[in-house]
Amino acid sequence: MSETSKEQHPFQAEIRQLLDLVVHSLYTDKEIFLRELISNASDSMERLRHIEATEKHVNQPDLPMEIHLTTDEEARTLTIADHGIGMTREELVKNLGTIAHSGTKAFLESVKTSGSAPGKLIGQFGVGFYSAFMVADAVTVYTRSWRAEGEELEWTSDGASGYEIAELPGQERGVKLVLHLKEDQAEYAGEARVKRLIETYSNFVGFPIFLNGKRINEVEALWLKNKTEISAEQYTAFYQFAGKAFDEPAYRLHFSADAPLAIHALLFAPSENPERMGFGKVEGGVALYCRKVLIDEDPKGLLPEWLRFMKGVVDSADLPLNISRETMQDSALVRKLNSVLSKRVIRMFEKEAEADPEKYRAFYRKFDRFFKEGVATDYANREALAKLLRFESSLAEPGVLCGFADYLTRAKDGQEVIYYLVGPNRDSLEGSPYLEAFRARGIEVIYFTEMVDEYVVDALGEFDGKKLVSIRHAGVEIEAQAAGEGESLDETQTAALCAFLKAELGERVTTVASGKRLVDSPVIALVPVDGLSPQMRQMMRAMDENFKDELKVELEINPRHPLLRKLATAKDSNPELAKLVARQLFDNALIAAGLLDDARDTVTRMNTLMEKAMA
Ligand code: ADP
Repeated sequence: MSETSKEQHPFQAEIRQLLDLVVHSLYTDKEIFLRELISNASDSMERLRHIEATEKHVNQPDLPMEIHLTTDEEARTLTIADHGIGMTREELVKNLGTIAHSGTKAFLESVKTSGSAPGKLIGQFGVGFYSAFMVADAVTVYTRSWRAEGEELEWTSDGASGYEIAELPGQERGVKLVLHLKEDQAEYAGEARVKRLIETYSNFVGFPIFLNGKRINEVEALWLKNKTEISAEQYTAFYQFAGKAFDEPAYRLHFSADAPLAIHALLFAPSENPERMGFGKVEGGVALYCRKVLIDEDPKGLLPEWLRFMKGVVDSADLPLNISRETMQDSALVRKLNSVLSKRVIRMFEKEAEADPEKYRAFYRKFDRFFKEGVATDYANREALAKLLRFESSLAEPGVLCGFADYLTRAKDGQEVIYYLVGPNRDSLEGSPYLEAFRARGIEVIYFTEMVDEYVVDALGEFDGKKLVSIRHAGVEIEAQAAGEGESLDETQTAALCAFLKAELGERVTTVASGKRLVDSPVIALVPVDGLSPQMRQMMRAMDENFKDELKVELEINPRHPLLRKLATAKDSNPELAKLVARQLFDNALIAAGLLDDARDTVTRMNTLMEKAMA
């Protein structure tokens, strides 16, 4: 090749500026250059397919549609070759010598206007072909266009001032890119290093990728295929690969949509919850692709935080390839994706729960925390999510979970609210005096037995227009029952007893009244709706030794209970004993409510009472 056949070209001023930034910035994430170059190769072959499909003649039509990478540690080179459309001389000048690419323009604009460190900005934009100069101090492009008139060419540049184009016969159609790596970037001439990069960024590129003759990307872009073409085994293999998982997926959601966004999604719910097994908070497992090219492995904001246990891939052709990771979270596009995806996932769970309630219950037992977190934090999806909650209840056998919808189908005619009780476990709830009236009337009460449940019901407030009401609270309206058998204090006696108790207990109770709730217990302590629950108080006390809240309860008495009937007499005949009993009754009510903070007086009094009983 004679010197004269070489054509010297200066880079456009903006390219020089860009290259200067690329080369001199201390950009840490240099490795993304490979994703950019493989993505260019893949784009080029996609375009070739398109050209062939529109029945145009192309050069060398039988070349394999493959991407070949070659590493040479000795020569310190990395070669990336495709059989795509290639470039003509004019195209080389236009595509690699001027800035046409909108992302690159935007990059330069931001450097100019924001004045922030270019290194940071490169990470946000990705600079396509020029990113090669982050790792190489010389790049050669061998190319031949698909067009009949295209020459066989060699383009070389050191990424400084300009480039040369020369004719070089013997080129195959497409582009072969040789990166002469900088001394301190020699790692990219190492096979293992490059292999890992391909697996990370380009595993689902739709063309076979070979590294030193060995096929790397075995996994197809399953999400773009038709459901009917995919076997269960393929789905599982994909889940395990994409989710770095070893279990079988519990559920799968595979869908494509055109509106409001072009989306291909293949999502999985795992069958094991690693957070539950003590591995800490799981990282987002749904990666974002744009036409099979990885944009971000763990894109912030793609799914609501509570769905972080989901695995899989979302591919949206509407996404610009070079969308920045930092701005992605705020982009309207990602918000739209989030909304579409979360709704689909929730609907998927709803359908699956209907189709196989038993399977869903088993799944829910492992993943309940996520759904509860969702209700508490994901306002937009709260209502839909509430349908997915499951819990035990007073009318269901121990260990059987049901949902709000089940509760409502069983509710009594005219029951306008949903009753629940929060406590540490089923046994303690079943033994609670709060439950008596509801049990006697056959009214179902939901049992919430976890700390977080309290936040969940607070956040939810209602289901299907029916208020969630804690039966621990004062002011719960339930129907009066036909006067029970057995004797009862009459109204005057009851009023006098209430007055006695109020006088004795003083400020610790707001009111003392007879009520409809009690069947077997003598008294019950009801907490105000806006008061702290026992669980909350416990937590506050654990966090702050000096925590004190003005605990005021409403005391409801059972005028049918023998103890109270006797107390009504004793308050006149044996006031000293009656006072002791009154205080002990109150403490007992607090104990049953989980509200007794200090039991020292209680124990002393109990001993005195026993002594008297044996006298
Ligand atoms: P982008 O690919 O985002 O447009 P690049 O800077 O990566 O920006 O590339 C600039 C242009 O160079 C591309 O638009 C394309 O026309 C051309 N090009 C790059 N790589 C190849 C390739 N492997 N085959 C054919 N054309 C290519």
